[in-house]
Amino acid sequence: MIIAGLQKTTLIDYPRKIACVVFLAGCNFRCPWCYSSELVLPLKIVSQPRISEKEFLDFLRGRQGLLEGVVICGGEPTINKDLPQFIEKIKNLGYSVKLDTNGSNPKMLKDLVRANLIDYVAMDIKASINNKIYENILGEGVKLADIQDSVNFLKSGNLDFEFRTTVVNTIHTKEDFSEIAKWIGGSDVKYYLQNFRAEKTIDPKFEKIEPFSKEFLEEIIKEIFPYFKDCQVRQG
Ligand code: SF4
Repeated sequence: MIIAGLQKTTLIDYPRKIACVVFLAGCNFRCPWCYSSELVLPLKIVSQPRISEKEFLDFLRGRQGLLEGVVICGGEPTINKDLPQFIEKIKNLGYSVKLDTNGSNPKMLKDLVRANLIDYVAMDIKASINNKIYENILGEGVKLADIQDSVNFLKSGNLDFEFRTTVVNTIHTKEDFSEIAKWIGGSDVKYYLQNFRAEKTIDPKFEKIEPFSKEFLEEIIKEIFPYFKDCQVRQG
């Protein structure tokens, strides 16, 4: 496992908790609009500064009583086989843990939940399950059935979770969100949209793409809101 970054405090990444965010390098997707190439592309990962596990755990010891939670983010954290042991060390220090995932590793997700190692999951939904978008971004060995399995598992369990989508102009259409809502919707399901920001992206073409208007995202929300317990645009 490579710890490639640490955001020492966040009030917005873990619902209702003051948290820090730890970034693990490596990802099994290649979303061309991804902002985090330094956490995804092997050639960039090697030149990233790293934080040792000891350094990170010492940081958490120093923040006991000040921070409540740790957000584990990537890249894609579940590609790391030693993720359960890492989270156990965080939990032993008294922190709640939120996992950010693309849903590609339902086995790891289930193992973590069953071992009581995570308290909240945010799963990225890239498109509707039958959309070509998914086929184009999945890395080797990742199957659509795994994404479906993760969705089913979260929806049928007791763990607090949310689904979320970064909405990207030229990739998504309004109709895509009706399909997504029919797929993932449910009376206990929270779903959040985040507007794409043109920044440094894996595919530089996306750096020139204009975000959708606020009004467009609000129209989508109005249409799909009935499918969810909560559905909002979130500021990225
Ligand atoms: S899954 Fe997330 S980290 Fe991985 S390439 Fe896509 S946006 Fe980037």
